[in-house]
Amino acid sequence: MFITFEGPEGSGKSTVMQAIAKRLDQPLITTREPGGIRISEAIRELLLSDDYHMDARTEALLFAASRRQHLVEKVVPALNAGQIVLCDRFIDSSLAYQGYARGIGAAEIMSINQFAIESYMPDLTLYLKVDPEIGLTRIMSNQRETNRLDNESLAFHQRVCEGYDQLANTYDRIVTIDAAQPIDKVIEDAYQVIIKKLD
Ligand code: C5P
Repeated sequence: MFITFEGPEGSGKSTVMQAIAKRLDQPLITTREPGGIRISEAIRELLLSDDYHMDARTEALLFAASRRQHLVEKVVPALNAGQIVLCDRFIDSSLAYQGYARGIGAAEIMSINQFAIESYMPDLTLYLKVDPEIGLTRIMSNQRETNRLDNESLAFHQRVCEGYDQLANTYDRIVTIDAAQPIDKVIEDAYQVIIKKLD
């Protein structure tokens, strides 16, 4: 079972995912995008660095390249071994950020990602929905180190959220969770959705 966690900055994806991993009494791995393995972590550094002025399509291709290597090297072997894979971000991030917010378009992003991931898609995606203003305030107050991509305008982050909303309306595999709630309630809601899917 391949389960992905999606949402804007400060939606609590990684906290929720780690809490669920602790509660699920089943063989599983947790991982993240971009990253999760050496090549993809190296690509992540390139993507998040302030040292370059990166073209939007180059950015989209690097996210897809990172995704490809992570998928074949880590996700697919774990799935083949019967493990549950919990992954922080996957294709929906590219559709929302590069496709929608950067304006490249969903069809273009889908096509490079289809090349990268072939027929692998998540069985379930939890979209942690939160107003971008709340999310950005959270990351500032958590004193998480910010990066080039976090520092986009509020309007950009609002477009990311609109992109996610559209994806959630389009795909049945995406379940929306209200991530403005207290974190324990977000974890509980996400856990219940996963348990139901695993039944
Ligand atoms: O989820 P995480 O915070 O690790 O993502 C790292 C950064 O990459 C964030 O600033 C996020 O906004 C950005 N990102 C992006 N496009 C994606 C995925 C993530 O701009 N497709």
